[in-house]
Order: sequence, then C-alpha cells, then structure tokens
Amino acid sequence: MKSPARIGLVGALHQELAAVLARLPDEQRQRVGGRDFWAGHWHGHGVVAVLSRIGKVAAATTATALIERFGVGRIVFTGVAGALGAGLRVGDVVVASGFVQHDMDASPLFPRHEVPLYGRARFATDPALSAALADAARTVLAHADATLGAQAVAEFGLHAPQVQQGLVASGDRFVATAAESAALRQALPDALAVEMEGAAVAQVCHDYGVPFAALRTLSDRADDAAHVDFTRFIDQVASRYSAAVLEAYFSKL
Ligand code: SAH
Repeated sequence: MKSPARIGLVGALHQELAAVLARLPDEQRQRVGGRDFWAGHWHGHGVVAVLSRIGKVAAATTATALIERFGVGRIVFTGVAGALGAGLRVGDVVVASGFVQHDMDASPLFPRHEVPLYGRARFATDPALSAALADAARTVLAHADATLGAQAVAEFGLHAPQVQQGLVASGDRFVATAAESAALRQALPDALAVEMEGAAVAQVCHDYGVPFAALRTLSDRADDAAHVDFTRFIDQVASRYSAAVLEAYFSKL
C-alpha cells in the first residue's frame, strides 16, 4: 500500500524549526535550493520540516520545493504576525481562513490587491485542515500555563489568550508604525493580522491544488512598539505554541 503523502511543516523562524525538530526522532537533512529540508516522522506521520525564510519570494520557493521535490500532500505553516484586528492582543493566535498580498497593486490595470491573471485578490486556506489546526490551537491556549510556564504567562501578560480565524495580509515589509497599520486596516478592514509569507504559500498551494493551513501567534501590534522583545517572545512563547499546537494536531490525526 502506498503510504499517505507527507505533510510539509513550514516555519518562519529558526527557533520554531528547532522546536519542531526536537520532536522528530528520525529526521534526515536534504539540501535543496540552498535550504535544509528535514524529513522524518511525528507520531508516525511522514513530515518534511523546513524554514520558509522571510518574505514572499523566499516562502514561495520553499513551498514549491516542498511540493515538487518532496511530494508533500498538504502544508501547515506556523509563525508570528502583527495584530491588526480590533481586540486582538499579543499572545493571541490567528488561524488564517485566507490570505491577501497587501502590497500587490497593479492598478489601474487590475483592481488593487488582485493578483494579475488569477482574477482574485484572496486565496483561501483549506477549511478542514484549518479547522483541525484551530482546534489544536484552542486546546493548547486553554492551558497556556502548562505549555509556557507561569513565568512567561506573567511576563508577557498572556491572560485568556484567544484563537480567531480570518483573513491574514502578507507583504514584503515589517509593519512597525501605527500609521502603516492604520493604512492597512483602512485598505483591508477584515484583516486580522499582517506578516510576510503566508499569501505566497497560499498562492503556490492554489496553483498545485495542495491543501494549506496557517497559524500565526501575534507577536506585536504592528505599531511603533513592534520591535520590542521580538526575539524573547519567539523563544518563550511563539515557538512553544507552534510545537505544542502541531503536537496536538498530530496526536489527533
Ligand atoms: N528579527 C527577525 C526578523 C523578523 S522578520 C530575525 O532576526 O529573524 C518578521 C517575521 O515575523 C516574518 O516572518 C513576518 O512574517 C513576521 N511578522 C511579525 N510581526 C510582523 C509585522 N508587524 N509585520 C510584518 N511581519 C511580521
């Protein structure tokens, strides 16, 4: 019997990949396109873990290699993002229902945000895969203390963290001013979060018909304080959430 297609696990940051690799008992490294792909098993399921690298082009290349060279049958992305949605706080988690490139603008030839020749601006994620990821995230966030330790919960003020599903905006820019995030909110009122890779992976997965889901822990409010303690937050919170959510996802698979 042919074994089911492997799952591609893409992280945006080194600490996330390290946390994932710590859970794979048998990973083997293969270098393609200047990237290290790690093939192994998680709870008996074949996975290929890789760093996306930062920005849309790097993420698209990574996703394409995962599909073409490693034959993955679905892709799950984890990372951090800046919060745009009202009421969302640092430490909350967004599971993307779809993506848009906030810096795509071929107007007046095409409507703003529309990806030329696709006839669309938004690329949906896979509903079933996203629902499973959101379920896993809710399970983990309900016990944030157990995953992160009471000290990190107190330090980052992670009280009653929530999971929301909705639109995520991607672009080749770290959004770090209040003026920029206000402009994004105006242009894309339903966007919950902003990051730099997801829309690229969503477009590649659309091209190949590969189911895709993405989870982003909110690391900042995409404003003038966006750079504060970024690294510490990733070490102490985001990379731990990502690994714990994937663990919960695989344990139910
Ligand atoms: N300082 C980091 C670089 C982070 S780049 C390093 O040394 O590696 C930002 C990463 O976090 C990208 O993966 C992006 O997707 C995400 N991100 C988090 N907050 C963001 C914001 N406010 N705007 C854009 N991307 C953000």
